[in-house]
Amino acid sequence: MAKIEMTTPIVEMDGDEMTRVLWGMIKDKLILPYIDLKSEYYDLGLKHRDETDDQVTVDSANATLKYGVAVKCATITPNDERIKEYSLKKMYKSPNGTIRAILDGTVFRTPIMVKGIDPNVRTWEKPITLARHAYGDVYKNVEIAVPGKGKAELVFTGEDGKEIRETIYEFEGPGIIQGMHNKDKSIESFAKACFNYALSEKKDLWLGTKDTISKVYDRRFRDIFDKLYEEEYKKAFEDAGIEYFYTLIDDAVARVMKSKGGFIWACKNYDGDVMSDMVSSAFGSLAMMTSVLVSPTGVYEYEAAHGTVQRHYYKYLKGEPTSTNPVATIFAWTGAMRKRGELDGIQGLCDWADKMEKATLSTIESGKMTGDLCLITKLTNATKLGSEEFLDAIKETFDAM
Ligand code: NAP
Ligand code: MG
Repeated sequence: MAKIEMTTPIVEMDGDEMTRVLWGMIKDKLILPYIDLKSEYYDLGLKHRDETDDQVTVDSANATLKYGVAVKCATITPNDERIKEYSLKKMYKSPNGTIRAILDGTVFRTPIMVKGIDPNVRTWEKPITLARHAYGDVYKNVEIAVPGKGKAELVFTGEDGKEIRETIYEFEGPGIIQGMHNKDKSIESFAKACFNYALSEKKDLWLGTKDTISKVYDRRFRDIFDKLYEEEYKKAFEDAGIEYFYTLIDDAVARVMKSKGGFIWACKNYDGDVMSDMVSSAFGSLAMMTSVLVSPTGVYEYEAAHGTVQRHYYKYLKGEPTSTNPVATIFAWTGAMRKRGELDGIQGLCDWADKMEKATLSTIESGKMTGDLCLITKLTNATKLGSEEFLDAIKETFDAM
């Protein structure tokens, strides 16, 4: 059979440890036999990041802006131990942080659902996508431990020297204060990324904040979303048959637990941090969670939500058998290829992606899976396969289809 031809390259960001091992196997077994792969390859493995003083990360993000679609392998974020392990010149920043800053993007995380691994919440029939605003609030706060009696004030000094001043509290004894900020520009980018992604996925979009209590700060998020929706997105949403709505965060949480799923939930930074852990654990496994970074201009970078699976890698290096789940990484590739196919009008790429995802899920549903899934499945015929064996089983299912 002839291989599927591509016209525009995708940006390929290779990574570290066990996921790097899986990356090569996925390409050899599931991609190269079927697709005449055009990719611009960037090696974000920690060794090569060090050799290039991390320039390769910046270059890969700029290439993503140029071509519009990237697929990324998990990468090590260096800490003190990694500096020793890899004799690094310095403590590099998280590649995901660097890429996110260049693309000005929002991360959308979606669980991959499969028969036999049921969510802990009975009503969830479809995945819930969580969109976390990744700028500001408590993550860029300023805090003071108040030593004793005195007055705390919030002061803004304009460029013209004019002051806005509010009393926070007149302390009668020791306590604490905290200052936070966000920027209209960042909230707008977040809102645009959410609206564009909802349209591209044809899913409803929910936003929840605490604007009954925080009438300026949280209210600003609601106002910016509402305004953009009315002015730029309403028509497209109506045409697509999807809905945007705002509700109080308390109500959003209650509705989520009673919902059937199948929507995108936009959260402020802290809510997104906490709620994504709740949603992902309730759906089953971090190894079954995909992640896509979407820029406000519609540039997409796909990856798995989990890390480099270091513990499995050390076993692999010792020649011991591993059973590492490649599903989220496979879905990063299928997501990127489908998007490339949509943008370039290549139906073959979209079909390959649909079929590869189906083959992956039906392999699991037939009882063949990695160890992490064996532990949580309801299937009674589950067999634990090794990392490579499982990929071979997917290839077999795909070829049979
Ligand atoms: P991790 O790689 O996600 O792994 C944590 C544990 O979760 C594993 O030890 C394993 O449990 C289980 N697990 C995760 N993914 C799995 C998979 N695909 N198949 C089977 N089991 C899986 O997180 P980490 O160990 O905290 O971090 C390792 C490195 O990844 C760090 O250097 C960190 O900086 C990096 N990281 C990168 C990203 C990214 O690039 N997006 C994200 C997070 C972390 P068992 O060992 O019990 O089997
Ligand atoms: Mg968290």
